[in-house]
Amino acid sequence: MSVESIIAKIEQNKEIYIEFLRKLIQSDSVNPPGNEKNVALAIKDFLKDVHIKTDIFPFGDNRANLIAYLNENFKGKNLLYNGHMDVVPPGSETDWKYPPFSALVKRNKFMYGRGTSDMKSGLAAMVIALKVLKELNFDLTGNLILNAVADEETGGKFGTGWCIDNPLKPIKFNFAVIGESTGLSPLPKAILVGEKGHLIIKIRTNGISGHSSMPAMSKNAIYMMSEIIENLDKVDEYIPKSKPPIKLDKLKKLLAVTFPSKDVFDNILNEQSELESLLQSLISYSKALTMIKGGIKENVIPDSCEAVLDVRLLPGQQVEPIIEALKKLIRDDLGYLVKDDSTSPSQKVFVEIEIVTASEGSYWENWEESEELNEFYELVEKLYEKKPFYFLLPASADAHYMRNDGYCPQTILFGPGKGRTAHAIDENIEILDFIRAIKVYAIFAYKFLSKK
Ligand SMILES: [Zn+2]
Repeated sequence: MSVESIIAKIEQNKEIYIEFLRKLIQSDSVNPPGNEKNVALAIKDFLKDVHIKTDIFPFGDNRANLIAYLNENFKGKNLLYNGHMDVVPPGSETDWKYPPFSALVKRNKFMYGRGTSDMKSGLAAMVIALKVLKELNFDLTGNLILNAVADEETGGKFGTGWCIDNPLKPIKFNFAVIGESTGLSPLPKAILVGEKGHLIIKIRTNGISGHSSMPAMSKNAIYMMSEIIENLDKVDEYIPKSKPPIKLDKLKKLLAVTFPSKDVFDNILNEQSELESLLQSLISYSKALTMIKGGIKENVIPDSCEAVLDVRLLPGQQVEPIIEALKKLIRDDLGYLVKDDSTSPSQKVFVEIEIVTASEGSYWENWEESEELNEFYELVEKLYEKKPFYFLLPASADAHYMRNDGYCPQTILFGPGKGRTAHAIDENIEILDFIRAIKVYAIFAYKFLSKK
């Protein structure tokens, strides 16, 4: 009866919800610089007529985090819904089929715009679920807490990280959902129980500049960098081996549930090299050199060269050994002095290593034993009319703030949208996907919080 009333309410108010999502897309929150307060105010406004306690925590220049509570007590189970308000820049607007902040709805089926998939649709669906539960005025023992955060696209320290260390710190959560898009089209929806870590390292070689007619009198920083790059793979030998959270065979089994038979799955796996590379990325650490910069003039020996290394860590893998391995290569194998925060060399020729951002991966160890997760799975299967699959995120999200340090290991990622369109030109969301996600969030919260 109650579940039916939730579905009926969502069906009735569909148009209002689509308009609310459009409003969030149109609220500028491009990060950098952020301006997430625009989105926070739109959420607060949407919730105001149902008297939901909503706190906005402003910071910086027009930035903010938001927390809204279904009720005022924390005596029962606590469920956390988390979604980020910021979006990445749209790139060249003329490349878009439709203006990226128009939130244009096409044939009543798709909405286009920056943030439709990553992740204002997931965020809007969570806000709506909260409102629906409040409006239906159920007698629930637990509490649903919505956390709309800033800063996710630039590391999350001032968003999820801050909220967990401050206003959310005293609350003990039994379960958390991050509403990132988890559609891996053409596959069905994924429910993600782990994510990789992300480390960005800047390497700077410092040489001695001089006239390029007499190169022997100088030390060319570009040559120094090229030596490092040529030998970069040696770093792998110096990094302690890490085990993947889920072995390759098991990952394949998890994926296979979405296919009609094992043979079909095996065929697809053989034909699609993309799928194989996705699986590989989930069982190993990776590194990629993504930027390089050096030189100021054609006839000057460069005294400085900078390169950026993007490293993706397995859950459980730590940052420190990676940095140590890199230092070992540069210092012991190549013979250069390495400067870090603790040293300031007197010589002119040296290499600097700087950590630009670092977030470790995270993984919910005991996900297979969770009854609640199983219920979530069954609900998704029912509402999406297809079996979802458990999987890992090859990128990184805010989940490490919750899973690591024991705050709330039982955190999953699940949300509307296709991961492939996130950060891309012509990002879009299927309206049906959005509506289904609202139902999943609302019904799951209702069931979860009804239990003693
Ligand atoms: Zn996102």
